[in-house]
Amino acid sequence: MKSFTCIIVGGGIAGLQAAIMLGRYGHQVAVFDKGEGRSTLCKCYHNVLGYPDGIEGEHLRRLGKEHAEKYGVHFIKAEVTHAQKTKRGFDLQTITNDRFKCQYLLVATGIKDRLPLSIPNLKECLGISIYICPDCDGYEVKNKKTIVIGSGESGANMALTLTYFTKEVTFVNHEKAEIVEAKQQELKDKGIEIINESVEKVNLNATSAFSGVTLSSGRVLHGERGFIAFGGSIIQTDLLKQLGVERLENHHIAADPRSKETNIRNVWVAGDIVAHSEQLTIAMGEGAQAAIWMHKRILGQ
Ligand SMILES: Cc1cc2nc3c(=O)[nH]c(=O)nc-3n(C[C@H](O)[C@H](O)[C@H](O)COP(=O)(O)OP(=O)(O)OC[C@H]3O[C@@H](n4cnc5c(N)ncnc54)[C@H](O)[C@@H]3O)c2cc1C
Repeated sequence: MKSFTCIIVGGGIAGLQAAIMLGRYGHQVAVFDKGEGRSTLCKCYHNVLGYPDGIEGEHLRRLGKEHAEKYGVHFIKAEVTHAQKTKRGFDLQTITNDRFKCQYLLVATGIKDRLPLSIPNLKECLGISIYICPDCDGYEVKNKKTIVIGSGESGANMALTLTYFTKEVTFVNHEKAEIVEAKQQELKDKGIEIINESVEKVNLNATSAFSGVTLSSGRVLHGERGFIAFGGSIIQTDLLKQLGVERLENHHIAADPRSKETNIRNVWVAGDIVAHSEQLTIAMGEGAQAAIWMHKRILGQ
């Protein structure tokens, strides 16, 4: 069984930042990544210092991997499916039944959103002209005609949230899920039309940006920006559960605020799985924070 001092499960934003730091400390590190994640989907991150025009997720990931590899960090493309605590550390098993062990473990597996990626043209616009997070991208829809593609209450709440940025919001209740009457009234009061119909495709303008949607009836809605809100995101913390890490009711992890260590000694967490506001910069910060405290533990401090 191949052994490393530190294993990081999740090579997204948090995992890569931790890998760079642990690599620079000179530790023997492996990063396992299954090649998915929010950072593979976002075509343009906003709210990031140094990138006023945004930065692509895949580009950042590539830079991060190359950066960490300079310090000898190993990258293994595999999904880790099992984790077990042993006397000397942790045993991990991948989906292909390969086994690895380590003394110190960082889990940065992120969140899987419920996104309607089968709608033609939708994926290509993520982060550029279709968004999921009002804190990240509310600014991008300022005073713009915006169509929320969503489901029931989640979609309705997103439509209401966006009225802070724009007065022109339409909500397409793609799954025709129930919305309580009081909420429907709230939307009506804000001038938001609710359309209970599925989206057939996203329409693009000459620059390949969102220009509206075609509904299943053939009706075309024009819009300048899109937003998605389906609820039901998966907080990917099953591995941590296997190790006995305490999870909150919503499956996020409440780690030590200073060190990001969990209730299980030598298991750290970083990024979106930690209970916070799910931002790239926070994920990066937590990756660094966890790495610093892993290093201190390795030194016996
Ligand atoms: C469309 C979109 C737009 C966004 N826009 C912004 C923005 O403008 N500004 C902003 O600050 N934030 C934005 N975000 C949020 C941002 O992407 C996340 O906060 C950030 O990616 C969190 O980093 P992370 O490392 O926790 O998770 P991720 O980047 O999702 O990485 C998690 C990694 O873990 C891997 N993984 C999961 N489980 C396993 C396993 N069992 N074995 C191996 N590997 C595993 C995945 O393959 C993935 O690479 C956006 C998100 C989306 C989806």
